[in-house]
Amino acid sequence: MSERFRALFVDKTDDGQTVAFKDILVDDLMPGDTVVRVDYSTLNYKDGLVLTGAAPVARSFPMIPGIDLAGTVETSAGDFKPGDRVVLNGYGLSETHFGGYAQKARVKSKWLVPLAGDMTTHDAMAIGTAGYTAMLCVLALEDAGLTPDKGPVLVTGAAGGVGSVAVAILAKLGFEVVASTGREQEGEYLTHLGAGSIIPRADLSGDVRALNKELYACVIDAVGSKTLANAISMTKYGGAVAACGLAGGMDLPTSVAPFILRGVSLLGIDSVQAPMARRVEAWKRLDTDLDLSKLETMTQDVPLSGIEDFGQKILAGQVRGRIVVDVNA
Ligand code: NDP
Repeated sequence: MSERFRALFVDKTDDGQTVAFKDILVDDLMPGDTVVRVDYSTLNYKDGLVLTGAAPVARSFPMIPGIDLAGTVETSAGDFKPGDRVVLNGYGLSETHFGGYAQKARVKSKWLVPLAGDMTTHDAMAIGTAGYTAMLCVLALEDAGLTPDKGPVLVTGAAGGVGSVAVAILAKLGFEVVASTGREQEGEYLTHLGAGSIIPRADLSGDVRALNKELYACVIDAVGSKTLANAISMTKYGGAVAACGLAGGMDLPTSVAPFILRGVSLLGIDSVQAPMARRVEAWKRLDTDLDLSKLETMTQDVPLSGIEDFGQKILAGQVRGRIVVDVNA
């Protein structure tokens, strides 16, 4: 028997963008071999772009936003069985396929990752796309030979979602973490997550010199633009920089000097199309290398009914850590 459930839709009209709830049926969802009863989704920077219409992330309308979700399989013609706990992010959710801001989702089973260990669906979404991306950055830096003895790691946009999780993971792994933030008041929070020292955002947002004093063995950057360029210029000989974000801008005003004179590597991080083996590895590592008590400190729960207000806030850099969206509230 089909049951109506609630979903949030963004739509484009001649007057601009609308955001409204609708009660729909599973058959109103996009095609897929698996129906998931969604417990939680999250708010990421990209969700802010979709909710406000600030950038053309959603490519078809009407669209259910929410770039990630965690829940329980209800029916599956794929490799899952009813009751399996799963997490999903990327694969065009909220871009070309309906996302997680609904009580149910119909998706392809090959997109789903089974939840690792004792991780709950709430834990999974406290981590969310931002935390999973932070882990992809750590994995990339490890593949590049990063070990704690090589020197300090710089994390930019540290009080945001990617940044907060990156700080906590790196600290647990034994790295000396330098956290860059524009929010002086979040110093105590970042120290609690494991940052050894905190630098003001302004230290990295000024004019770029191709080569600067070598300070960091490696970098996780969520900001882009001058911040990323300055971070590259401060990376030690043979170091690596994982670039995953654009909160400060899309451009990259640097030169080849750090790459050809210091052997610095710039590692691009994409969460959306990451291969399944890498996703499974990342979620397993999150289960072991992220302290759940730290995760709680950085997480705030918000009902789906109140999500719209948070779209503007995350774009304005006013959201600390992670936001879990309860799609049933
Ligand atoms: P958040 O908004 O939670 O974090 C971004 C942080 O960047 C802010 O909290 C703030 O940190 C800092 N910041 C914001 N605006 C500026 C600015 N103008 N100049 C310098 N710093 C700024 O977002 P998320 O953590 O969800 O995402 C971070 C970035 O990573 C986004 O650009 C997002 O699109 C990208 N991303 C990319 C993914 C991928 O697959 N590559 C996946 C997930 C996210 P503080 O106040 O501490 O300075």
